[in-house]
Amino acid sequence: MTHCPNCQTPISTKMFKENSLVRPATLEFIHLFTSYKEENFCQKCVRDYLDQAVDEYQALEKEVESVYQTYINALPIVNVEQPINWDYQTIQIVSVIKKCKSTKDLAIDLVKEKCFHELRKNAILLGGNAILGAQISYDIIPQMYHILVSITGTVVHLKNSKQLTPHFYQAKEKFKAFDTTKKLLDKFVIRETGVDEKVFYRDRVE
Ligand SMILES: [Zn+2]
Repeated sequence: MTHCPNCQTPISTKMFKENSLVRPATLEFIHLFTSYKEENFCQKCVRDYLDQAVDEYQALEKEVESVYQTYINALPIVNVEQPINWDYQTIQIVSVIKKCKSTKDLAIDLVKEKCFHELRKNAILLGGNAILGAQISYDIIPQMYHILVSITGTVVHLKNSKQLTPHFYQAKEKFKAFDTTKKLLDKFVIRETGVDEKVFYRDRVE
């Protein structure tokens, strides 16, 4: 190729006239995250296209993250051991302990929420979709003005989640719908390199 197919600038290795076509990762990235399908781009014209693709990539990343958080936070945690009509398999007991450096209610609530969040994340990692028999305990360490918040529960896999925990089931389905998008996002990594081409394949050295 002697000229850039997009802007017609000559491709050259001559000093002061240096111009090359973009790397494959950059080209694929622009094709995937913008509506531009030009055969190729060069160093002289790539910037605007790449910026636009990066904006779209980051917007999608945010969207996936928010759907993921909704999914995690929807995982049911109940304190009863055997809810009526629940058909489930027990996976494993899980517990989380966090230190709260203040004895104020608001601070304790915040730590409690963080514990719940971590517990739910663990449950999902273990392949579960609910936590049963959750117990919260608060231990005061008087000399240090700290409170230890701990939550324990049993991760289970509820077979009739669709009927009994529809809110969580829907959040999970919504997250699953992003599988293809997640794979596309995972394929690339954006590094602040100081040059125009800041997109790389995550698991390939170029
Ligand atoms: Zn060009």
